[in-house]
Amino acid sequence: MKTSQLLTTKKAIITGAASGIGFATAKLFIEKGFNVGLIDADKSRLELIAKEFKQNGYDCYYRSVDVTDEIRLKKAIDELTNSLQGLDIFFSNAGINGTWAPIETLTVDEWDTTINTNLRSTFLCIKFAIPHMKENGGSIIVTSSINGTRIFNNFGASAYSASKAGQVAFTKMAALELARYNIRVNAICPGAIDTAINEKTTYSDELKKIEIKVEFPEGDRPLKNETGTSDQVAQSVLFLATDVSANISGTELYVDGAESLL
Ligand code: NAD
Repeated sequence: MKTSQLLTTKKAIITGAASGIGFATAKLFIEKGFNVGLIDADKSRLELIAKEFKQNGYDCYYRSVDVTDEIRLKKAIDELTNSLQGLDIFFSNAGINGTWAPIETLTVDEWDTTINTNLRSTFLCIKFAIPHMKENGGSIIVTSSINGTRIFNNFGASAYSASKAGQVAFTKMAALELARYNIRVNAICPGAIDTAINEKTTYSDELKKIEIKVEFPEGDRPLKNETGTSDQVAQSVLFLATDVSANISGTELYVDGAESLL
């Protein structure tokens, strides 16, 4: 079978589709001829994106929901699958950096917000996608992070790192469980990517006072680019989404220019 055949008529749902990696993936998928359903909490951005896609001759479906909201998320996934007339690919990508603070001062609410947005949502997405995918099989991709498997310079990111590590472990368990339905499950672990996520991080006052700075020494990065791009991550998601990666499941793919090896 030709690659071009493998890339057609796929039906995909993407969370966190209004910005950064999710948006880049939505754009790439739609250009490849996939039918896409977009989920994000940011309604106005979703509307703008749908309008822009339409102006370029592409249709898409979308729902504005919080991915931690069990009831509304399930409804959105059911409705989008219905509109798409099936579901082959689920990209669980919505996430936040949340609050970075020393563990002593990180509040329980701040912990819960990060864990729920990143990890609970992944559980909910996969749980609600399974009934739609189990008959024909398909591919689920989860956006974790290099912080999910390696702890280095992000002092204060305990909740973020725990949520991302949880996503990797959950991905592996899901891959094992869902192999019997011919559903593959893999994680993407990006390094630093040029999206809006970092501007949205909350750094606690206590963290700012602590003089802990573990940074890459000048010139120590293996690649010329300081940060990667959303488009590079989207290409890796495409690879995991389609049958060109048919025998790959339960693994994590680093898209980090070897940053995690430093
Ligand atoms: P981004 O902020 O550009 O996009 C994230 C999107 O998720 C936004 O549109 C936002 O509205 C949405 N979102 C956040 N919380 C939500 C919620 N509760 N319900 C619904 N939608 C919600 O960030 P990004 O960098 O594209 O992040 C995408 C994923 O990549 C995240 O899981 C993030 O942890 C991961 N990641 C990013 C980087 C990086 O450097 N940018 C590195 C490693 C991992």
